[in-house]
Amino acid sequence: MPEKKIIIVSNRLPVTIQREDGNLTFKPSAGGLATGLSSVYRQGNNLWIGWPGLYSQQEAEKDLITQNLRNDHMAPVFLTEEDVHEFYEGFSNKTLWPLFHYFTEYAQYQQVLWEAYERVNRKFCAQVLQYAGPDDVIWVHDYQLLLLPSMIREKLPNATIGFFQHIPFPSFEIFRLLPWRKQILEGMLGSDLIGFHTYDDMRHFLSSVSRILGHNNTMGLVKKENRLIQVDSFPMGIDYEKFARGTKDPQTIEKYKRYEKLLSDQKVIISIDRLDYSKGIKQRLKAMDIFFTRYPEYIGKVSLVLIVVPSRVKVDQYQALKEEIDTMVGWLNGKYSRMDWTPIHYFYRSFSFHGLSALYSSAEVALITPLRDGMNLVCKEFIASKLDKKGVLILSEMAGSAKELSEAILVNPNDIQQIVDAMYQALTMPEEEQIARNEEMQNKLKRYNIHRWVEMFMEQLEIVKQKQTELE
Ligand code: UDP
Repeated sequence: MPEKKIIIVSNRLPVTIQREDGNLTFKPSAGGLATGLSSVYRQGNNLWIGWPGLYSQQEAEKDLITQNLRNDHMAPVFLTEEDVHEFYEGFSNKTLWPLFHYFTEYAQYQQVLWEAYERVNRKFCAQVLQYAGPDDVIWVHDYQLLLLPSMIREKLPNATIGFFQHIPFPSFEIFRLLPWRKQILEGMLGSDLIGFHTYDDMRHFLSSVSRILGHNNTMGLVKKENRLIQVDSFPMGIDYEKFARGTKDPQTIEKYKRYEKLLSDQKVIISIDRLDYSKGIKQRLKAMDIFFTRYPEYIGKVSLVLIVVPSRVKVDQYQALKEEIDTMVGWLNGKYSRMDWTPIHYFYRSFSFHGLSALYSSAEVALITPLRDGMNLVCKEFIASKLDKKGVLILSEMAGSAKELSEAILVNPNDIQQIVDAMYQALTMPEEEQIARNEEMQNKLKRYNIHRWVEMFMEQLEIVKQKQTELE
C-alpha cells in the first residue's frame, strides 16, 4: 500500500517565481504559515499545491517550473491573467474579502466573477487529484478555495480533508447577503474539520450552516447525510523564537542602532499593515491629529512610523485608499512638522525581517487598530520582540488576536477619542506595568506558537476522522 501523504493547498505557494534576464528565480516565502507548515510539507511524499505567482504559457517553461518545485515538495497550479483578474482580484477580493470583513458596501456581486471562482477552484481540484491518493490527508487554506473541499470529496470520498479560514467569518445577517451563500457553505462542508481563528467566527459559521442549510450541530459537530464535520477554533500563533532571537541578530542590531540615532530623543509609535481598508489606517491618522491637538506637549517628542505595505493595487478601493493616506500624511506633516522633527515617518513599501525586528524592538508603542482582522500577527510579533518586556501594545477589539492578548490596551477602532486616550495611557504607563502585561502575553505566545497550531489542527483532524469511522 502506498504511504499516506499530506497535501497542503493554498492560493499561493510558499515561493515566488520570477523571470530575471531570461532566467527563472525561486524566492522562498518567509511568512509564518510557510514556516509552520514546512515541518509538514517537506516530509516524506508530502507536498504543497498552489499558484507560483507568475504567468507561464510555454509548455517547456511549465515543465521546468514543475520539476524545480517538485524537488522542494511543491506542485504548481498555473493560472492565466484572466483567472487572476476574475478569481483573485475579482471574486476573492471584490466579493468575499469585503463581505467577510463587514464592508458590505464594497462587495460586488457579479455572475462572471462567481463563475471564474468556480472555474479556478476546479483547476486547483484537478491538480490535487493528480497527486492525491484515495486515503490521503488534504489541508486546504483560506477564502480563495472555499469550494475546493467538496470538489475533492466528490472524487475522493474517503480522503481526510481539513479546511482553515484565515479571515473572519461574518455573522449570518452579513453572510446571507451573498447570492452564492448556499454553494459556499456546501463547498466548505466537504471537509472533515473546519477551523477558524476565533470562537466567534466559528459560531457565525455554524449559525449560517443552520439557518441557510438547516444542519444543526452538537458542540461544533455537524451531521450531514452520513458524514460528521467538526467545526472548531484554532487561534494561529507566530514563530515566537524567530522574533525573540531576531532582535539579537547582528543585522537587526545594526539597524536598531541606526534608528535609535535618528530618532534618539523621540518616543516611537509604530503602525504596520498591508494597504487595506480593513486595517483602520485612516482612523489611526485622525487619532494622531487629535492627539497632538489635545496633548501639544508631545509635539516634537513623539513620532509615528507608518509602514504601509503595497497590496492588491489592481483593486480600485486599494488605489483610492492609498491616495487618501498620502493626502492625510501630507496634511498632518504640513500641519505639525518642525525643522528638526517630523510627526509621521511614512513608508509605502515592505520591510525586511531585520528592519521589522529592529522597529519592533525600538518602538515604545505599537498602534494596531484594524476595523476587522481575522487574527493580526504584527501585534504578536511586536510582543515577542520585546526582550526587555518594555513597550505597550494598543490593539483593536476587532482583531482576532485581541481574544488572546487581553493584557494589551484594547480599543474600539471607530472610537477615535478612545484611541487618543489609549496613546496617552501608553506613553505614560509605568515600566513595571508594561513588564507585567508583556510577560503575560509573551507566555501565551510562547506556548501557542505556530508549530503548536499546526499540531493541534492535525490532531483534531485525526480525531474527527476516527469518530467518522466509528459511525460507519
Ligand atoms: N510584514 C513583513 N514586512 C513588512 C510588514 C509586514 O514581512 O514590511 C509581515 C509581518 O511580519 C506579518 C505579516 O506581514 O507576519 C502580516 O500579517 P498580519 O496577520 O498582521 O496581516 P495580513 O497582511 O495577513 O492581513
